[in-house]
Amino acid sequence: MFQFSYKLKVSERVKAKCDRHPRYNPEREGRSGIKGGCSTCFSLYDLHQARLSLDSAHHEFLRKAIPWTQVSKPRKKAEGSASSQSSSAL
Ligand SMILES: [Zn+2]
Repeated sequence: MFQFSYKLKVSERVKAKCDRHPRYNPEREGRSGIKGGCSTCFSLYDLHQARLSLDSAHHEFLRKAIPWTQVSKPRKKAEGSASSQSSSAL
């Protein structure tokens, strides 16, 4: 039997701020809020984008993992879970 086993665990706390533009908030102001092409603010913006990507990837992972997630609940006897099984025998 071939099976995958994934354990997802992400926990990072980051406090980032531009010294020149301490009020810049990439979440609120976006890319257009970056003043004078400041590289640090761009890094903050990229960090925010990476965080959004990570969030969406996390949600996507959870959404796709739901059918395979083992939930500890009492099992019924011999209940077939597959709705569409291929009948072609190789
Ligand atoms: Zn800046």
